[in-house]
Amino acid sequence: MKDDEHLLIFNIQKYSLHDGSGIRTVIFLKGCPLRCLWCCNPESQSVERELIYRKTRCIGMDKCGLCKKCAPLGTIKQGEDGKAEIDIAACTGDLRLADICPSRAIEIEGREITIDEAIDIVRQDEVFYRGKGGLTISGGEPLSQPGAIGLLKKAKEEFINTAVETCGYVNEDRLLTAAAYLDQIFFDIKSVDEDKHRRFTGSSNALILSNIRALKRTYPDKAIRVRTPVIPGFNDKEEELSAIEDFLASIGINEWEKLPYHTYGVGKYEMLGREYLLPTQ
Ligand code: SF4
Ligand code: SF4
Repeated sequence: MKDDEHLLIFNIQKYSLHDGSGIRTVIFLKGCPLRCLWCCNPESQSVERELIYRKTRCIGMDKCGLCKKCAPLGTIKQGEDGKAEIDIAACTGDLRLADICPSRAIEIEGREITIDEAIDIVRQDEVFYRGKGGLTISGGEPLSQPGAIGLLKKAKEEFINTAVETCGYVNEDRLLTAAAYLDQIFFDIKSVDEDKHRRFTGSSNALILSNIRALKRTYPDKAIRVRTPVIPGFNDKEEELSAIEDFLASIGINEWEKLPYHTYGVGKYEMLGREYLLPTQ
């Protein structure tokens, strides 16, 4: 979303216990500048709404076949099991395809909500927060949407505890502005090795490392917890993890958590018509 009153989201998770203190409502915003090869939310990466296809829901082209009549030529054929085989990435320019599928095998990923609607959703679970829980924004990179700041500001005005899960690859001004409205910051540092970072996430780590320095310098008392997903072949060697630990020590951050690698998101790549490029075993 380019305006600051709306959010493009792809999920809302209630009663979460792993995304900040207490019980939390997590709002997942779409759009991320990185392309981590292990990403378990590939549907979060695009800043646009897009189509996904769940083949298991297709009732078969002999019974239905509606999609083939409406999709661009050559993007849909009948598979050996009778179900539609769809090049969904090639179809995503026209979201109307989701409207014609009777079994919701084709759906749109991403929906727009206003900041007020988001606050109303968060308020529904206020009774569970008990002074500790609250709102967490995640993604994707939640701060890539200008509306994220408006949401955090509004939440603070309503005395709601706020947290962010950020990859750190975000404009420094926006990060520091957002931090003023944040009680907790979960900040990913994936690698301090520039070349490896580029190869595995598609981008340099320079902005991320300078952002965490700026964050710590500007808000020395803010609750900042760094997270590192430990990915085989990328950053799992002892010296690679030690280099991250040393970097954090050098800027005065000692809250550091390593997250285990998992492949829960692999099926989503197929639904988006994309390939998962890391080994799955
Ligand atoms: S419109 Fe939906 S249910 Fe019908 S053939 Fe296409 S994918 Fe299958
Ligand atoms: S930063 Fe997170 S959301 Fe973005 S590509 Fe990497 S794993 Fe996915």
